[in-house]
Amino acid sequence: MIAFHPSLEGHILPVELIPETLTRTQTVPKRDNQTDVLIVGAGPTGLACAIEAQKAGFKALILDKGCLVNSIFHYPTNMTFFTTPELLEIGDIPFTSSLVKPTRQEALEYYRRAAQHYDLQIYQYHWVKTINGEDGSFHVASTDRQGHIHDCSARKIIVATGYYDLPNAISVPGEDLPKVFHYYREPHPYFDNDVIVVGGKNSAAEAALDLWRHGARVTLVHRGAQIHANVKYWVRPDVENRIKSGEIIAYFNSSILEIGPDFVVLDTPKGSQRLENDFVFALTGYHPDFDFLTSIRIELSTDQYRPVCDPVTLESNIPGIYVAGVIVAGSRTSEIFIENGRFHGKQIAAHLRQTLRPGATGPVSLGRD
Ligand SMILES: Cc1cc2nc3c(=O)[nH]c(=O)nc-3n(C[C@H](O)[C@H](O)[C@H](O)COP(=O)(O)OP(=O)(O)OC[C@H]3O[C@@H](n4cnc5c(N)ncnc54)[C@H](O)[C@@H]3O)c2cc1C
Repeated sequence: MIAFHPSLEGHILPVELIPETLTRTQTVPKRDNQTDVLIVGAGPTGLACAIEAQKAGFKALILDKGCLVNSIFHYPTNMTFFTTPELLEIGDIPFTSSLVKPTRQEALEYYRRAAQHYDLQIYQYHWVKTINGEDGSFHVASTDRQGHIHDCSARKIIVATGYYDLPNAISVPGEDLPKVFHYYREPHPYFDNDVIVVGGKNSAAEAALDLWRHGARVTLVHRGAQIHANVKYWVRPDVENRIKSGEIIAYFNSSILEIGPDFVVLDTPKGSQRLENDFVFALTGYHPDFDFLTSIRIELSTDQYRPVCDPVTLESNIPGIYVAGVIVAGSRTSEIFIENGRFHGKQIAAHLRQTLRPGATGPVSLGRD
Protein backbone atom coordinates (compact mmCIF):
# COMPACT_ATOMS: atom_id res chain seq x y z
CA MET A 1 0.00 0.00 0.00
CA ILE A 2 1.27 3.46 -0.83
CA ALA A 3 1.24 6.01 2.01
CA PHE A 4 0.19 9.57 1.21
CA HIS A 5 1.44 12.60 3.03
CA PRO A 6 -1.42 13.97 5.17
CA SER A 7 -0.93 17.56 4.02
CA LEU A 8 -1.54 16.45 0.44
CA GLU A 9 -4.93 14.85 0.83
CA GLY A 10 -6.80 15.17 -2.43
CA HIS A 11 -3.55 15.16 -4.41
CA ILE A 12 -2.25 11.81 -5.53
CA LEU A 13 1.43 12.22 -4.73
CA PRO A 14 3.06 9.25 -2.97
CA VAL A 15 5.19 10.15 0.08
CA GLU A 16 8.43 9.05 -1.55
CA LEU A 17 7.85 11.56 -4.37
CA ILE A 18 7.36 14.61 -2.14
CA PRO A 19 10.36 16.91 -2.49
CA GLU A 20 12.38 17.39 0.73
CA THR A 21 11.72 21.14 0.61
CA LEU A 22 7.96 20.82 1.17
CA THR A 23 6.65 21.53 4.66
CA ARG A 24 5.48 18.32 6.29
CA THR A 25 2.79 18.09 8.91
CA GLN A 26 4.28 17.78 12.41
CA THR A 27 2.44 15.21 14.45
CA VAL A 28 2.65 15.52 18.24
CA PRO A 29 2.08 12.16 19.90
CA LYS A 30 -0.78 12.38 22.40
CA ARG A 31 0.43 11.75 25.92
CA ASP A 32 -1.00 8.87 27.88
CA ASN A 33 -2.75 10.30 30.91
CA GLN A 34 -3.97 7.13 32.61
CA THR A 35 -1.80 5.06 34.87
CA ASP A 36 -1.89 2.58 37.72
CA VAL A 37 0.58 4.50 39.88
CA LEU A 38 1.34 8.20 39.54
CA ILE A 39 4.48 9.39 41.29
CA VAL A 40 4.97 13.05 42.12
CA GLY A 41 8.70 13.84 41.99
CA ALA A 42 11.49 12.38 39.83
CA GLY A 43 14.15 12.40 42.55
CA PRO A 44 16.08 9.23 43.42
CA THR A 45 13.12 8.08 45.54
CA GLY A 46 10.49 8.75 42.88
CA LEU A 47 12.59 6.89 40.30
CA ALA A 48 13.05 3.94 42.69
CA CYS A 49 9.28 3.87 43.33
CA ALA A 50 8.51 3.81 39.60
CA ILE A 51 11.04 1.03 38.98
CA GLU A 52 9.63 -1.13 41.78
CA ALA A 53 6.02 -0.46 40.71
CA GLN A 54 6.91 -1.48 37.15
CA LYS A 55 8.70 -4.60 38.40
CA ALA A 56 5.50 -5.51 40.27
CA GLY A 57 3.63 -5.31 36.95
CA PHE A 58 2.05 -1.87 37.23
CA LYS A 59 2.05 1.02 34.83
CA ALA A 60 3.88 3.94 36.45
CA LEU A 61 4.04 7.60 35.48
CA ILE A 62 6.27 10.22 37.12
CA LEU A 63 5.58 13.96 37.04
CA ASP A 64 8.26 16.44 38.06
CA LYS A 65 8.05 20.21 38.24
CA GLY A 66 11.66 20.44 37.05
CA CYS A 67 14.05 18.14 35.25
CA LEU A 68 14.96 14.54 36.11
CA VAL A 69 16.58 14.49 39.60
CA ASN A 70 15.93 18.20 39.82
CA SER A 71 17.38 18.53 43.34
CA ILE A 72 20.70 16.95 42.40
CA PHE A 73 20.81 19.14 39.30
CA HIS A 74 20.59 22.17 41.62
CA TYR A 75 23.38 21.02 43.96
CA PRO A 76 26.61 23.03 43.85
CA THR A 77 28.14 22.36 40.44
CA ASN A 78 31.30 20.69 41.70
CA MET A 79 29.77 18.84 44.66
CA THR A 80 30.99 15.45 45.85
CA PHE A 81 28.54 13.16 47.69
CA PHE A 82 29.28 12.05 51.25
CA THR A 83 27.85 8.65 50.30
CA THR A 84 29.77 5.96 48.44
CA PRO A 85 28.25 5.07 45.06
CA GLU A 86 26.79 1.65 45.90
CA LEU A 87 24.59 3.27 48.58
CA LEU A 88 23.01 5.56 46.00
CA GLU A 89 21.98 2.71 43.68
CA ILE A 90 18.39 2.12 42.58
CA GLY A 91 16.80 -0.71 40.62
CA ASP A 92 19.81 -3.00 41.21
CA ILE A 93 21.84 -1.04 38.66
CA PRO A 94 25.51 -0.72 39.71
CA PHE A 95 26.75 2.83 40.20
CA THR A 96 30.44 3.03 39.38
CA SER A 97 32.56 6.07 40.05
CA SER A 98 36.17 6.90 39.36
CA LEU A 99 36.40 8.29 42.91
CA VAL A 100 35.66 6.96 46.40
CA LYS A 101 32.69 9.34 46.57
CA PRO A 102 30.83 10.15 43.37
CA THR A 103 30.35 13.64 42.01
CA ARG A 104 27.09 15.42 41.20
CA GLN A 105 27.92 15.03 37.51
CA GLU A 106 28.29 11.26 37.87
CA ALA A 107 25.01 11.03 39.80
CA LEU A 108 23.18 12.95 37.06
CA GLU A 109 24.54 10.48 34.51
CA TYR A 110 23.69 7.50 36.71
CA TYR A 111 20.06 8.39 37.45
CA ARG A 112 19.41 9.39 33.85
CA ARG A 113 20.77 6.04 32.61
CA ALA A 114 18.73 4.19 35.25
CA ALA A 115 15.57 5.97 34.05
CA GLN A 116 16.42 5.13 30.43
CA HIS A 117 17.28 1.51 31.28
CA TYR A 118 13.86 0.95 32.85
CA ASP A 119 12.16 3.01 30.16
CA LEU A 120 10.42 5.05 32.85
CA GLN A 121 7.59 7.28 31.75
CA ILE A 122 8.48 10.73 33.06
CA TYR A 123 6.80 14.03 32.30
CA GLN A 124 9.40 16.66 33.19
CA TYR A 125 8.39 20.27 33.86
CA HIS A 126 4.93 19.19 35.03
CA TRP A 127 4.16 20.80 38.37
CA VAL A 128 1.50 18.87 40.26
CA LYS A 129 -0.96 21.35 41.75
CA THR A 130 -3.93 19.29 42.88
CA ILE A 131 -4.78 15.67 43.63
CA ASN A 132 -8.47 14.85 44.00
CA GLY A 133 -10.56 11.73 44.00
CA GLU A 134 -10.19 8.60 46.05
CA ASP A 135 -8.39 5.30 46.24
CA GLY A 136 -8.57 3.60 42.86
CA SER A 137 -9.63 6.77 41.08
CA PHE A 138 -7.45 9.83 41.62
CA HIS A 139 -7.35 12.90 39.39
CA VAL A 140 -4.10 14.84 39.19
CA ALA A 141 -3.81 18.31 37.68
CA SER A 142 -0.42 19.70 36.73
CA THR A 143 0.81 22.75 34.86
CA ASP A 144 3.60 22.79 32.29
CA ARG A 145 6.13 25.53 31.54
CA GLN A 146 3.64 27.41 29.39
CA GLY A 147 1.05 27.33 32.17
CA HIS A 148 -1.11 24.79 30.32
CA ILE A 149 -3.08 22.49 32.57
CA HIS A 150 -2.79 18.71 32.18
CA ASP A 151 -5.04 16.10 33.76
CA CYS A 152 -4.02 12.57 34.63
CA SER A 153 -5.88 9.79 36.34
CA ALA A 154 -4.29 7.14 38.53
CA ARG A 155 -5.34 4.31 40.78
CA LYS A 156 -2.62 5.01 43.36
CA ILE A 157 -0.45 8.03 44.13
CA ILE A 158 3.07 8.19 45.55
CA VAL A 159 4.24 11.59 46.79
CA ALA A 160 8.05 11.91 46.71
CA THR A 161 8.48 15.67 46.54
CA GLY A 162 11.68 16.05 48.57
CA TYR A 163 12.65 19.21 50.44
CA TYR A 164 15.14 21.14 48.33
CA ASP A 165 12.73 23.59 46.67
CA LEU A 166 11.96 25.61 49.79
CA PRO A 167 14.85 27.23 51.68
CA ASN A 168 14.53 28.05 55.37
CA ALA A 169 14.34 31.83 55.50
CA ILE A 170 16.57 33.77 57.89
CA SER A 171 13.74 36.33 58.13
CA VAL A 172 15.70 39.57 58.35
CA PRO A 173 15.24 42.89 56.54
CA GLY A 174 17.04 42.78 53.20
CA GLU A 175 16.73 39.01 52.67
CA ASP A 176 14.86 39.68 49.43
CA LEU A 177 17.72 41.76 47.93
CA PRO A 178 19.10 40.29 44.68
CA LYS A 179 22.53 39.83 46.30
CA VAL A 180 21.13 37.24 48.74
CA PHE A 181 21.06 33.58 47.67
CA HIS A 182 19.77 30.40 49.30
CA TYR A 183 21.59 28.09 46.87
CA TYR A 184 25.29 27.96 46.11
CA ARG A 185 26.44 26.93 42.63
CA GLU A 186 30.03 27.99 41.94
CA PRO A 187 32.67 30.49 43.09
CA HIS A 188 33.79 32.35 39.98
CA PRO A 189 31.48 35.44 40.14
CA TYR A 190 32.54 36.23 43.72
CA PHE A 191 36.30 36.67 43.22
CA ASP A 192 37.59 39.76 45.07
CA ASN A 193 34.20 40.33 46.74
CA ASP A 194 33.08 40.41 50.38
CA VAL A 195 30.89 37.37 50.81
CA ILE A 196 29.00 36.24 53.90
CA VAL A 197 28.01 32.59 54.28
CA VAL A 198 25.33 31.91 56.87
CA GLY A 199 25.15 28.42 58.42
CA GLY A 200 27.39 25.82 60.02
CA LYS A 201 26.56 22.55 58.27
CA ASN A 202 27.88 20.89 55.11
CA SER A 203 26.45 23.34 52.57
CA ALA A 204 27.80 26.38 54.40
CA ALA A 205 31.21 24.86 55.20
CA GLU A 206 31.74 23.67 51.62
CA ALA A 207 30.58 26.95 50.07
CA ALA A 208 32.84 28.97 52.41
CA LEU A 209 35.88 26.89 51.46
CA ASP A 210 35.12 26.93 47.74
CA LEU A 211 34.59 30.70 47.73
CA TRP A 212 37.77 31.32 49.73
CA ARG A 213 39.80 29.02 47.44
CA HIS A 214 38.62 31.04 44.45
CA GLY A 215 39.53 34.48 45.73
CA ALA A 216 36.49 35.71 47.66
CA ARG A 217 36.86 37.36 51.11
CA VAL A 218 34.70 35.05 53.18
CA THR A 219 32.97 35.63 56.51
CA LEU A 220 31.07 32.72 58.04
CA VAL A 221 28.18 33.54 60.39
CA HIS A 222 26.72 30.71 62.45
CA ARG A 223 24.28 30.77 65.35
CA GLY A 224 25.97 27.66 66.86
CA ALA A 225 29.19 27.66 68.87
CA GLN A 226 31.18 25.73 66.24
CA ILE A 227 31.05 23.99 62.88
CA HIS A 228 28.44 21.22 63.10
CA ALA A 229 29.77 17.82 64.20
CA ASN A 230 28.17 16.03 61.19
CA VAL A 231 30.05 18.02 58.57
CA LYS A 232 31.89 15.67 56.15
CA TYR A 233 35.00 14.31 57.86
CA TRP A 234 37.29 15.73 55.21
CA VAL A 235 35.62 19.15 55.13
CA ARG A 236 35.39 19.93 58.86
CA PRO A 237 39.14 20.10 59.68
CA ASP A 238 39.72 21.99 56.46
CA VAL A 239 37.27 24.78 57.31
CA GLU A 240 38.32 24.82 60.98
CA ASN A 241 41.96 25.28 60.00
CA ARG A 242 41.06 28.13 57.62
CA ILE A 243 39.19 29.80 60.49
CA LYS A 244 42.07 29.30 62.93
CA SER A 245 44.52 30.86 60.51
CA GLY A 246 42.18 33.81 59.92
CA GLU A 247 41.84 33.05 56.22
CA ILE A 248 38.10 32.70 56.72
CA ILE A 249 36.61 35.03 59.37
CA ALA A 250 34.02 33.27 61.52
CA TYR A 251 31.38 34.69 63.86
CA PHE A 252 29.94 31.91 66.04
CA ASN A 253 26.93 32.31 68.35
CA SER A 254 26.00 35.07 65.92
CA SER A 255 23.26 35.88 63.46
CA ILE A 256 22.36 38.46 60.83
CA LEU A 257 20.20 41.38 61.93
CA GLU A 258 19.92 43.26 58.66
CA ILE A 259 21.18 43.08 55.07
CA GLY A 260 21.69 46.31 53.13
CA PRO A 261 22.83 46.94 49.53
CA ASP A 262 26.52 47.12 50.54
CA PHE A 263 26.56 46.09 54.19
CA VAL A 264 25.37 43.52 56.70
CA VAL A 265 24.68 44.04 60.42
CA LEU A 266 25.47 41.11 62.69
CA ASP A 267 24.35 40.28 66.19
CA THR A 268 27.48 38.86 67.87
CA PRO A 269 28.45 38.06 71.49
CA LYS A 270 30.43 41.34 71.39
CA GLY A 271 27.39 43.37 70.27
CA SER A 272 26.22 44.40 66.84
CA GLN A 273 28.78 44.75 64.05
CA ARG A 274 28.38 46.36 60.65
CA LEU A 275 30.42 44.72 57.85
CA GLU A 276 30.99 45.73 54.25
CA ASN A 277 29.32 43.16 52.07
CA ASP A 278 28.70 42.32 48.42
CA PHE A 279 26.91 38.95 48.55
CA VAL A 280 25.17 36.75 51.12
CA PHE A 281 24.68 32.97 50.91
CA ALA A 282 22.05 32.01 53.50
CA LEU A 283 22.61 28.24 53.57
CA THR A 284 20.38 27.46 56.52
CA GLY A 285 18.59 24.37 55.23
CA TYR A 286 15.41 23.56 53.36
CA HIS A 287 12.02 22.11 54.17
CA PRO A 288 9.34 20.02 52.43
CA ASP A 289 6.30 21.71 50.91
CA PHE A 290 3.99 21.10 53.87
CA ASP A 291 1.23 23.23 52.28
CA PHE A 292 1.15 20.91 49.26
CA LEU A 293 0.92 17.85 51.53
CA THR A 294 -1.96 19.28 53.53
CA SER A 295 -3.68 20.49 50.35
CA ILE A 296 -3.95 16.86 49.27
CA ARG A 297 -5.36 16.05 52.73
CA ILE A 298 -2.26 14.36 54.16
CA GLU A 299 -2.19 14.83 57.92
CA LEU A 300 1.05 16.06 59.51
CA SER A 301 2.26 15.46 63.06
CA THR A 302 2.10 18.61 65.15
CA ASP A 303 5.72 18.72 66.29
CA GLN A 304 7.87 17.70 63.32
CA TYR A 305 5.30 17.85 60.50
CA ARG A 306 5.81 14.18 59.67
CA PRO A 307 3.12 12.87 57.30
CA VAL A 308 0.89 10.41 59.13
CA CYS A 309 1.63 7.06 57.48
CA ASP A 310 1.97 3.36 58.09
CA PRO A 311 5.70 2.83 58.74
CA VAL A 312 5.72 -0.46 56.81
CA THR A 313 3.58 0.30 53.76
CA LEU A 314 4.11 4.10 53.79
CA GLU A 315 0.43 4.58 52.97
CA SER A 316 -0.71 7.91 54.37
CA ASN A 317 -3.92 8.69 56.21
CA ILE A 318 -5.53 9.00 52.75
CA PRO A 319 -6.04 5.45 51.42
CA GLY A 320 -4.18 4.99 48.13
CA ILE A 321 -1.79 7.93 48.67
CA TYR A 322 1.72 6.93 49.76
CA VAL A 323 4.59 9.11 50.93
CA ALA A 324 8.22 8.35 50.10
CA GLY A 325 11.74 9.71 50.48
CA VAL A 326 12.85 12.58 52.63
CA ILE A 327 9.32 14.00 53.17
CA VAL A 328 8.59 11.01 55.44
CA ALA A 329 10.88 12.65 58.03
CA GLY A 330 8.92 15.92 58.06
CA SER A 331 11.09 18.79 59.25
CA ARG A 332 13.88 16.34 60.32
CA THR A 333 15.27 16.34 56.79
CA SER A 334 18.63 14.84 57.80
CA GLU A 335 17.01 11.57 58.95
CA ILE A 336 16.15 10.32 55.49
CA PHE A 337 18.37 10.80 52.47
CA ILE A 338 19.09 8.87 49.27
CA GLU A 339 20.85 6.05 51.13
CA ASN A 340 17.73 4.99 53.04
CA GLY A 341 14.90 6.68 51.08
CA ARG A 342 15.72 4.60 47.98
CA PHE A 343 14.19 1.54 49.72
CA HIS A 344 10.76 3.15 50.07
CA GLY A 345 9.88 2.02 46.55
CA LYS A 346 10.20 -1.64 47.56
CA GLN A 347 8.05 -1.10 50.68
CA ILE A 348 5.29 0.55 48.66
CA ALA A 349 5.47 -1.99 45.82
CA ALA A 350 5.01 -4.81 48.34
CA HIS A 351 1.76 -3.18 49.46
CA LEU A 352 0.65 -2.47 45.88
CA ARG A 353 1.06 -6.18 45.10
CA GLN A 354 -1.46 -6.95 47.85
CA THR A 355 -3.96 -4.22 47.00
CA LEU A 356 -3.86 -3.58 43.25
CA ARG A 357 -4.41 -6.04 40.41
CA PRO A 358 -1.84 -5.50 37.62
CA GLY A 359 -3.43 -4.72 34.29
CA ALA A 360 -6.91 -4.37 35.82
CA THR A 361 -9.08 -1.78 34.17
CA GLY A 362 -11.08 0.50 36.39
CA PRO A 363 -10.68 1.17 40.08
CA VAL A 364 -9.64 -1.52 42.50
CA SER A 365 -10.15 -0.70 46.15
CA LEU A 366 -7.84 -1.53 49.00
CA GLY A 367 -8.28 -5.00 50.35
CA ARG A 368 -10.63 -6.12 47.57
CA ASP A 369 -8.13 -8.32 45.68
C1 LIG B 1 24.11 19.57 48.65
C2 LIG B 1 23.48 18.27 49.08
C3 LIG B 1 24.26 17.12 49.19
C4 LIG B 1 23.68 15.90 49.54
N1 LIG B 1 24.46 14.78 49.61
C5 LIG B 1 23.89 13.58 49.90
C6 LIG B 1 24.67 12.38 49.96
O1 LIG B 1 25.89 12.39 49.81
N2 LIG B 1 24.04 11.21 50.22
C7 LIG B 1 22.68 11.14 50.41
O2 LIG B 1 22.16 10.02 50.61
N3 LIG B 1 21.92 12.26 50.39
C8 LIG B 1 22.49 13.47 50.14
N4 LIG B 1 21.73 14.60 50.13
C9 LIG B 1 20.29 14.51 50.45
C10 LIG B 1 19.52 14.05 49.22
O3 LIG B 1 19.77 14.89 48.15
C11 LIG B 1 18.04 14.04 49.50
O4 LIG B 1 17.78 13.35 50.68
C12 LIG B 1 17.36 13.33 48.34
O5 LIG B 1 17.47 14.11 47.18
C13 LIG B 1 15.93 13.06 48.68
O6 LIG B 1 15.39 12.33 47.60
P1 LIG B 1 13.87 12.49 47.25
O7 LIG B 1 13.67 11.71 45.99
O8 LIG B 1 13.07 12.18 48.44
O9 LIG B 1 13.68 14.05 46.97
P2 LIG B 1 14.33 14.98 45.82
O10 LIG B 1 15.59 14.40 45.30
O11 LIG B 1 14.38 16.34 46.39
O12 LIG B 1 13.25 14.88 44.68
C14 LIG B 1 11.99 15.49 44.80
C15 LIG B 1 11.52 15.88 43.41
O13 LIG B 1 10.16 16.28 43.51
C16 LIG B 1 9.96 17.36 42.61
N5 LIG B 1 8.75 18.07 43.07
C17 LIG B 1 8.55 18.72 44.23
N6 LIG B 1 7.29 19.19 44.29
C18 LIG B 1 6.66 18.83 43.15
C19 LIG B 1 5.35 19.00 42.63
N7 LIG B 1 4.39 19.63 43.32
N8 LIG B 1 5.07 18.51 41.39
C20 LIG B 1 6.00 17.84 40.69
N9 LIG B 1 7.26 17.64 41.14
C21 LIG B 1 7.59 18.10 42.36
C22 LIG B 1 11.24 18.15 42.69
O14 LIG B 1 11.42 18.95 41.54
C23 LIG B 1 12.28 17.04 42.81
O15 LIG B 1 12.80 16.64 41.56
C24 LIG B 1 22.30 15.83 49.81
C25 LIG B 1 21.51 17.00 49.72
C26 LIG B 1 22.09 18.20 49.36
C27 LIG B 1 21.23 19.42 49.28
